[in-house]
Amino acid sequence: MESSSSFVILSVFISLFLLTSPCKASAQEDFLQCLASHSNQSMPQVYVPKSPSFLSVLQSSIYNLRFTSPATPKPQFIITPNHESQIQALVVCSKKHGLKITTRSGGHDFEGLSYRANVPFVLIDLVNFRTIDVNIRDNSAWVQAGATLGEVYYRIAEKSPVHGFPAGACPTVGVGGHISGGGFGLMVRKFGMAADHVLDARIINAKGEILDRKTMGEDLFWAIRGGGVTSFGVLLAWKIKLVPVPPTVTVSIIAKTLQQDATELVHKWQSVASYGVPNELSIALHIGVVDTGSSNGTRIGSGRTVQATFTTLFLGPATQLLQVMEKKFPELELGMKQEDCKEMRWWNQNIHKTIKKFLEIRNPICCSRNHDENPQILRQNDENQVVRRDLTLTCMVVRSLTSIRA
Ligand SMILES: Cc1cc2nc3c(=O)[nH]c(=O)nc-3n(C[C@H](O)[C@H](O)[C@H](O)COP(=O)(O)OP(=O)(O)OC[C@H]3O[C@@H](n4cnc5c(N)ncnc54)[C@H](O)[C@@H]3O)c2cc1C
Repeated sequence: MESSSSFVILSVFISLFLLTSPCKASAQEDFLQCLASHSNQSMPQVYVPKSPSFLSVLQSSIYNLRFTSPATPKPQFIITPNHESQIQALVVCSKKHGLKITTRSGGHDFEGLSYRANVPFVLIDLVNFRTIDVNIRDNSAWVQAGATLGEVYYRIAEKSPVHGFPAGACPTVGVGGHISGGGFGLMVRKFGMAADHVLDARIINAKGEILDRKTMGEDLFWAIRGGGVTSFGVLLAWKIKLVPVPPTVTVSIIAKTLQQDATELVHKWQSVASYGVPNELSIALHIGVVDTGSSNGTRIGSGRTVQATFTTLFLGPATQLLQVMEKKFPELELGMKQEDCKEMRWWNQNIHKTIKKFLEIRNPICCSRNHDENPQILRQNDENQVVRRDLTLTCMVVRSLTSIRA
């Protein structure tokens, strides 16, 4: 947006506030004036509660739907910057005006910490910071904070079928929050966590200065890779190291109910690590409750049972996976037929769909920005139960992935 038109919009905002609530208006006016005067390039897009699209922008990437309720505290401003200098201006002005900053990349925070606070706050939504520059020659990529994991995988795969990045499975998770908290995925046994593969980073500190690895120093660089970057500033971008992946990987999802010996399989799965399965193999376990009272969409009873779902990623072809499973986990291999094993490129439409299916089983909130696709969550009365369940399952998967690391 050009500066001149921004100032016209700013004046309209200011007039509106003055007509409605003079005291509040003057605080908002002061803040916006501050932002305009510190924004060298141009004024960022600003939404205030009276803006027609305020709520839709706020809710565009809220993944814990309990926080879409009217009772959830709302920001005084939402800013969607498209230039780093606009964030620098925001940091300076928020400090001056006593506003807390919450930064949102992908909006997957379980506690909603990227878009809610109990004190007056301003929300920076990094939806416009999604540039991904992949450099295959030196096995690296610069990834802006607002990019999603799916976008990162897609851009890498566009450049090379044998390069990948070991991060989470849900394609809509943002790299800003994900990598700064560690970030695990189905390649964790082979390559470790996403944060282990950060080469450099650009952040804006509380003084509004832009720092990279060299200027922030090794202590801060260490802290933002797992310690949560939000305690230290606003992350602009990560430089990540790519890892080698084989041209063909195999994915398999097998679900067994209690009646199909799920208990024995889970017991065996817990001890698989001691058999020394290769690091190319990860088997994630999800335990859930399923409805046995319907068949092909028709209700035939009211039963429920416990189901264990094993999701396997093997960095190699299906024949090799079956051989490994036959030796190390024959009980599961019995149920793993050739047709259950889908060979594919490390990241393509298929793996996206397969992993998406797994995550939908694990967590229906997952992977869709369109909440209408998840009406069962909207209908949940006991919201605490939803959140508790999500956290339990995530912990379980973390535990499962790490516990079988050789
Ligand atoms: C459906 C779903 C699936 C998931 N799958 C996985 C998985 O497979 N593996 C895994 O490890 N985790 C997974 N997670 C957890 C996820 O990695 C974390 O919740 C992560 O913090 C989300 O990052 P985000 O950018 O999307 O979230 P946000 O809500 O945007 O941010 C999360 C936190 O980081 C801060 N933050 C975000 N961006 C910035 C920034 N640019 N600068 C400073 N602070 C920032 C926020 O303020 C907030 O405190 C999943 C979560 C969900 C909801």
